[in-house]
Amino acid sequence: MTRSERLARLAAGPFDVLVIGGGITGAGVALDAAARGLSVALVEQGDFAEGTSSRSTKLVHGGLRYLPMLDLGLVREDLEERGLLLRNAPHLVRPLPFVLPLYRGARNPLGLNLPGIVRAALPVGMASGLWAYDLLAGRQPVPRHRALTGAAAAALFPPLRLEGLRSAYLYYDAVTDDARLTVTVLRTAVRLGAAACNYARVADLTKVGGRVIGARVIDALTGHALTVSARTTINATGVWAEAVAGLAGRPGFRIRPSKGVHLMVPRARLRLGRTALVLPETDDGRLAFVIPWQGAILIGTTDTEWLGPPETPLVERRDVDYLLDHASRFLAVRLTDRDVLGAFAGLRPLVSMGTGMRASSARLSRRHEVVPGAEGFVSIVGGKLTAYRRMAEDVMDAATGRRAGAPSPTRRLLLDGADGLSGALPELLARARRLGIGRRGFAHLIRAYGTGAAALLNAVAARPALGEPLAPGCPNIAAEVVVAVREEMAATIADVLLRRTRLAHLLPNAGVDAAPRVAALMAEDLGWSPEDQRAAVHAYRRAATAMAVP
Ligand code: FAD
Repeated sequence: MTRSERLARLAAGPFDVLVIGGGITGAGVALDAAARGLSVALVEQGDFAEGTSSRSTKLVHGGLRYLPMLDLGLVREDLEERGLLLRNAPHLVRPLPFVLPLYRGARNPLGLNLPGIVRAALPVGMASGLWAYDLLAGRQPVPRHRALTGAAAAALFPPLRLEGLRSAYLYYDAVTDDARLTVTVLRTAVRLGAAACNYARVADLTKVGGRVIGARVIDALTGHALTVSARTTINATGVWAEAVAGLAGRPGFRIRPSKGVHLMVPRARLRLGRTALVLPETDDGRLAFVIPWQGAILIGTTDTEWLGPPETPLVERRDVDYLLDHASRFLAVRLTDRDVLGAFAGLRPLVSMGTGMRASSARLSRRHEVVPGAEGFVSIVGGKLTAYRRMAEDVMDAATGRRAGAPSPTRRLLLDGADGLSGALPELLARARRLGIGRRGFAHLIRAYGTGAAALLNAVAARPALGEPLAPGCPNIAAEVVVAVREEMAATIADVLLRRTRLAHLLPNAGVDAAPRVAALMAEDLGWSPEDQRAAVHAYRRAATAMAVP
């Protein structure tokens, strides 16, 4: 379907549900609504996942750090979602082992403010906490935690600092690619009949009397306006939610954006295996992570208030220093600026319902809230990437008046690429081999697309040049650009390099060297002239400069 056909379909309405926002929350709502058999439209002002949903730590987790806060309900709920995602999207969400070290002399381990006498018993407390974490998770395809000797911890995570180590544990959570998860949830929704469009901004809500009956949408690529009519409009706009809810009346909640920065470091710098590390203590009473991710290393995150515009959270010098310093405290090597491949900042859409406005953002709960507004308008705010499915279920239960707690069809719904995956693997592998795609390239395709890798192999079979890597030494192939444009609505080079693939985070200089090639591949489907291609590359270079580490 072309973009103009997509926009025409939106304008044709009316829909049962209009979702505003194409991050993980909006994508989840669109999927829940479509799975319930409702007609649904989704509009996103920029690219899908362009907001917070491409800038997270990429963990699908219960959140070990909420255990000491005794937020057991939240931990249990998120662990349940972890289990559902491991089953429903096993290609995209995979178990990840973590080494959790505790050191002598730690003042605030895991952000806990413990009196000295209790600190002495910390290893016992830690073992009980991890035992509770396993118990709350129930039966999942994830091994249970265990205590490690120093040597075993170093074998799992070679750059670990051993000096002063008091005890260490191995436990498991899960990791994903947040932007691809968002796009995959949306692809699944579209397969079930949802109409979705990126670069389509809600400028206003349409109302009859006090009732919201849809929205006025501006096509950001042409400036044209259209009206999308719907019985219920759902606001899933993350850190923008307060402003969007304001279009319907008094929002009834406050969003407190909290900035989190991550650094990317080349894998070779730390000789990491498959295991991640918990940085067990930070100066501001939290914990952070060093995670092997897509062939590089992700280090994060920070947690500071952000008062600037939500579109452009900035990586500041002090964020980079904080992360290099904290990571180096628990590593046998000292990381410096020279080790940094790139950095990115995102905003947590923390919600406050009138109480707790003064709490530090690290202490504000990651719970979500369903906030009814004017008739026909509901907001879903706060939450976590991990909880997107539950958030969608809750808001759709509220919007449809369905008995809360009744299971949504999405509990058992396999996401795109998951159906029949293990059975399809031998045939897909054999085809990939015949097409000259090596093991690493094949593993990448399966992790990103699941059985959808078949579409990429078809493209390569029709045109062998599409099997070539997008950049030297990376497993991404040219066919991914074609699929991103044809099937995933990629419209700019940044859509491809930052979100459909994650090459902007994995290549030096945000992957600008790959931009001309990506532009040439996009040009064929989007009808770009050589002049359009040059302009697209120029725009990407400018964006890359803005992404440069300060
Ligand atoms: P967003 O992804 O921001 O989506 C909202 C969308 O609405 C945006 O794309 C925006 O462009 C669109 N929009 C806004 N206004 C309009 C309009 N007028 N018209 C149309 N569209 C509009 N969670 C985890 O579970 N695990 C983690 O490891 C984790 N780590 C994190 C680390 C950091 C640093 C941060 C910041 C968050 C982290 N989170 C994590 C939380 C998680 O990333 C967020 O809760 C989640 O991505 C929020 O998704 P969302 O869809 O609500 O918001």
